[in-house]
Amino acid sequence: MDRNIKEIISQMTLEEKAGMCSGLDFWHTKGVERLGIPSIMVTDGPHGLRKQAGESDHLGLNKSVPATCFPSGATLACSWDKRLLEKVGVALGEECQAEDVSIILGPAANIKRSPLCGRNFEYFSEDPYLSSEMAKNHIKGVQSQGVGTSLKHFAVNNQEHRRLSVNSVLDERALREIYLASFETAVKEAKPWTVMCAYNKVNGEYCSENESLLTSILKKEWGHEGFVMSDWGAVNERVSGLIAGLELEMPSSNGLSDRKIVEGVKNKSLTENILDSAVERLLKVIFKAVDNKKKNSVYDKEEHHKLARKVARECMVLLKNEENILPLKKEGNIAIIGAFAKTPRYQGGGSSHINPTKLDDVLEKIKESAGINCNISYSEGFSLINDDIYENLVDQAKKAASKSQVAVIFAGLPDRYESEGYDRTHMRIPENQINLIEEIAKVQKNIVVVLSNGSPIEMPWISNARGVLEGYIGGQAAGGAIADLLFGSFSPCGKLAETFPRKLSDNPSYLNFPGEGDVVEYKEGLFVGYRYYDKKELPTLFPFGHGLSYTSFEYSDITVDKKEMVDNETLNIKVKIKNTGMVTGKEIVQLYIKDVESTVIRPEKELRAFEKVELKPGEEKIITFILGKRAFAYYNVEIKDWHVESGDFEILVGASSKDIKIKEVVNVKSTVVIKKKFSRNSTLGDIMNDPNGEKMAASLIKDIFGEEDESGDDLGTDMSAMLKDFVLRSMVTFSGGRFTEEIMESLVEKLNGRK
Ligand code: BGC
Repeated sequence: MDRNIKEIISQMTLEEKAGMCSGLDFWHTKGVERLGIPSIMVTDGPHGLRKQAGESDHLGLNKSVPATCFPSGATLACSWDKRLLEKVGVALGEECQAEDVSIILGPAANIKRSPLCGRNFEYFSEDPYLSSEMAKNHIKGVQSQGVGTSLKHFAVNNQEHRRLSVNSVLDERALREIYLASFETAVKEAKPWTVMCAYNKVNGEYCSENESLLTSILKKEWGHEGFVMSDWGAVNERVSGLIAGLELEMPSSNGLSDRKIVEGVKNKSLTENILDSAVERLLKVIFKAVDNKKKNSVYDKEEHHKLARKVARECMVLLKNEENILPLKKEGNIAIIGAFAKTPRYQGGGSSHINPTKLDDVLEKIKESAGINCNISYSEGFSLINDDIYENLVDQAKKAASKSQVAVIFAGLPDRYESEGYDRTHMRIPENQINLIEEIAKVQKNIVVVLSNGSPIEMPWISNARGVLEGYIGGQAAGGAIADLLFGSFSPCGKLAETFPRKLSDNPSYLNFPGEGDVVEYKEGLFVGYRYYDKKELPTLFPFGHGLSYTSFEYSDITVDKKEMVDNETLNIKVKIKNTGMVTGKEIVQLYIKDVESTVIRPEKELRAFEKVELKPGEEKIITFILGKRAFAYYNVEIKDWHVESGDFEILVGASSKDIKIKEVVNVKSTVVIKKKFSRNSTLGDIMNDPNGEKMAASLIKDIFGEEDESGDDLGTDMSAMLKDFVLRSMVTFSGGRFTEEIMESLVEKLNGRK
């Protein structure tokens, strides 16, 4: 519907405009009846709806209406499936329409800096490319249904510890290449209606009043046209926030912030123009929501449950499969052990906590899949309430395991171990579970461990297990999905979206997590996740991108459409993938770029493209990747832009970050000349590397040091190596008066192109 929003704003009183900038209550924006401005509802998110009809809270404490609980972000990312994420988004959008919710609060695209972050189960990945692609498709799906999203938590919110007061301190390249990149493509390409700013500070400034983040980068550089809302209670000073680009404070401030805004305009600390622009952004989205509202919308709960099962199946990761213990044979005795098989951990705690429409009974699903020739027993094995070892539970489980051909142990992290609001302190599963696995191993060598956890765990027990299926946080239909995979109705096809380190202390953030007092310094810089393990050549328990299948794939015939290119061209790469096994399966083909030689610090390689492909036995397909400038670039802090250094780049295509199958090399030439600024403190080396400076530096060295040293030899390599770090002004000192200050200054001017 056509509306003149500026005209509406001109009819609003100052108080009405100020009022629009904070919530009506916990979940609604304010309306202005006399002008036909409606109030709309926003609701958590991200992987299911948490619409509270009664008491409200942002910690998942009170009940919400039933909704489909899809696998959480950490799980979804392991699908590496863009179309699947979009489908989940569509389903979420349909549920929002049916429940009269205008904006769902998600997806959450924060980077997994440490495996300990309590909210990792909601976040996608340690890699910004994968994370942003997942977020982008989730948003596209939801918004295709006329429902908005709120991409969160912008930005650098990578821990729960002191999340309302902590200052995340990091360098500009890490900020741009890792932490912001995780949001960037999603904002640019999927255009979320809203973005939610995080609780914390970034480099000294609260996200809620960080003009650089909210206005310069998000709105001006990335072109975000919607509005920014605060995380619940993230506002520090309301007027500063509004000036910085925070349009909506959530939840309601009970009139306090509205009064501050009115006061600000009156005392001229805030211009009315800023307020008007904020209201304009708010109204555009509010009216868009109203215009897109579908009347009498319903969704099919059964269909969504089926989708949740399919999705979970596509995400779970087969980590280990010694002697092909999986898929299980549909015969004989199978001992199902572990309290999670009765009380599944299928979702995380906090604001994303969902009241599911139904919940799969894992044992029932296993029995269905196993068929009539299988005898399934269940023993609890351990308590979920505490970590104590109960001998009777262990003994019963051992007895069952010893009478069976295989023991399937359901282990993982209980709810109390990971949640929004606090971080983990270690990466182990409870002692009672470790003890159980070790005890079962004494009576049964065929052990399969099925894991439910939202983030990586250490596995000191792994040698006792022949098979490990990482089920992550699988949503309400996880039970069916696990059964599908255990018995081979489908081949596992998820791959890790994060590294599993051997132990916590191997993780790059280990020395600086969760920081000291209210400061956390990201001293590892760019080297997050596999970027660090790669560079350090550190073995991992399971590398980024790892995941097994019941079939096998062959990579061949890599071709590039050019071997030489300039940085603003695109490059087409083709690779052939063949299913060489006996069953249908899906492979996630990963493409990494390595800058062979660089003058700046760069990771060994970085994920720049991926594709998931389904193949029947014997079938082969050609996968095409298209890379642009960004795939080769790093963020140059001098020119404040993405930059490609001319030279060779390796294109590495493989099945995981540690399993590169095939590669090619292309030469990329930069179209951007970065003009270096020279001064009296420039080094001879830098001058030599400059096309204009090369000759000047050589003649300067010759003048001052002569061409030969005392022994009559040419200047030795050591001498020139030493000279390259001399600065110009030091040459004045060592030249014995031949190289004067005046000559130096004129040289600097020449180098800077001013003479
Ligand atoms: C969380 C957000 C959530 C909001 C509303 C906050 O505590 O950080 O992710 O959307 O509450 O429940």
